Amino acid sequence: MTTPLSKPGSKTNPATTPKVGIVSLGCPKALVDSERILTRLRAEGYDISPSYDGADVVLVNTCGFLDSAKKESLEAIGEAIKENGRVIVTGCMGVESDMIRQVHPDVLAVTGPHQYEQVVNAVHDAVPPVHDPFTDLVPPEGLRLTPRHYAYLKISEGCNNRCTFCIIPSLRGDLVSRPVVSVLREAEKLATAGVKELLVISQDTSAYGIDRKYAEEDWYGRKVKARFLDLCRELANFDVWVRLHYVYPYPHVDEVIPLMAEGRILPYLDIPFQHASPTVLKAMRRPAAQEKQLDRIRKWRQECPHLVLRSTFITGFPGETEEDFQFMLDWLKEAQLDRVGCFKYEPVDGAVANDLPGAVPEEVKQERWERFMETQKAISAERLQQKIGYTLGVIIDEVDEEGAIGRSYADAPEIDGNVFLNGETNVKPGDIVDVTIEHADEYDLWGSIERAE
Ligand code: SF4
Repeated sequence: MTTPLSKPGSKTNPATTPKVGIVSLGCPKALVDSERILTRLRAEGYDISPSYDGADVVLVNTCGFLDSAKKESLEAIGEAIKENGRVIVTGCMGVESDMIRQVHPDVLAVTGPHQYEQVVNAVHDAVPPVHDPFTDLVPPEGLRLTPRHYAYLKISEGCNNRCTFCIIPSLRGDLVSRPVVSVLREAEKLATAGVKELLVISQDTSAYGIDRKYAEEDWYGRKVKARFLDLCRELANFDVWVRLHYVYPYPHVDEVIPLMAEGRILPYLDIPFQHASPTVLKAMRRPAAQEKQLDRIRKWRQECPHLVLRSTFITGFPGETEEDFQFMLDWLKEAQLDRVGCFKYEPVDGAVANDLPGAVPEEVKQERWERFMETQKAISAERLQQKIGYTLGVIIDEVDEEGAIGRSYADAPEIDGNVFLNGETNVKPGDIVDVTIEHADEYDLWGSIERAE
């Protein structure tokens, strides 16, 4: 059975199984790449077409090793365009995207070698997969381990920073951001499946897109850049809570504060400061470690008074003096962060920090940790007291016969506090309700659901 071909450039939406043709050129490594791409597409329900005329889209996996191979690749692309019209180019020659488009302006997309996700996304764009609820083992939004009403949205892998206490870059490599349309498509599927809260995660969320040079893609007829601000703007359109984690305070983070002030994304920033003393931050080689951080926090709060800041810190880093530690405590009192976690420094196998001089004895680490937690506990308690009498939107996580437990915009799941709604049993997980706050302790709030008179 064949699906009629449409004109190049238009999107088909086959009611029947979509079919993909492939022309695989080059060496055995390229052949294996083609096999991987086809395996993935087959698993998603695509059929593989043996001929041009039976395919909804044709993939040309190119070789760019020698000039003669490039010539052959360009000819193969030309033939596929002539015979079918809807062509996606991938493989080694994909790195010369401009040249390919100059010769063949009608190609639908060009992706480079080993860019499996990008090429599969390009196929999705050209011919969307058909979800069959009776035969598909996996729902369109994928399988998740989180409750139905919230989901983590991972926007990149790896990290370009080299913090001395961390081995993630050596385990996972440098930053590789997902294409923006791939992230948005996943977010859209999650929102469609009923997810009410998206938790944006990565190793370095505000660095999103740097590695892709902020590549622009088409999303519902508009151009969207793979850039932190643009991503946040687009996520804000899904009408779900959007919470940003692992945001390093690079200067451009200032640009998302207005989105928070307008209520388009949650006014919540998870910034792992790790320390405040310039000497320790330097030894840690932390990204975006600026001396003017307190001024920026003040400015953010002027622009967005309800902004909640969460962070993590490390005490007892090698070389940390009592003076450094006291600097951090004073900073903490000034910064008035809402949610804070603190870890005692532990050497990680392979981390550069292990070789730094000035190891802090365990009992000193412990004593500093306790002082840190005491200081933050008082700050947290005071900030939560200020919420009494206010009405907050609360997302419900659990309900039993005694009542419900939820979270406000100020609380990420698992790591922050809760809002307890004693006696409120007439709600279900995922509901977002207005709650009047009546009581607070150091970490949690208590309240009742507001009801119309
Ligand atoms: S701790 Fe530093 S190096 Fe490690 S993942 Fe975070 S930013 Fe990257």
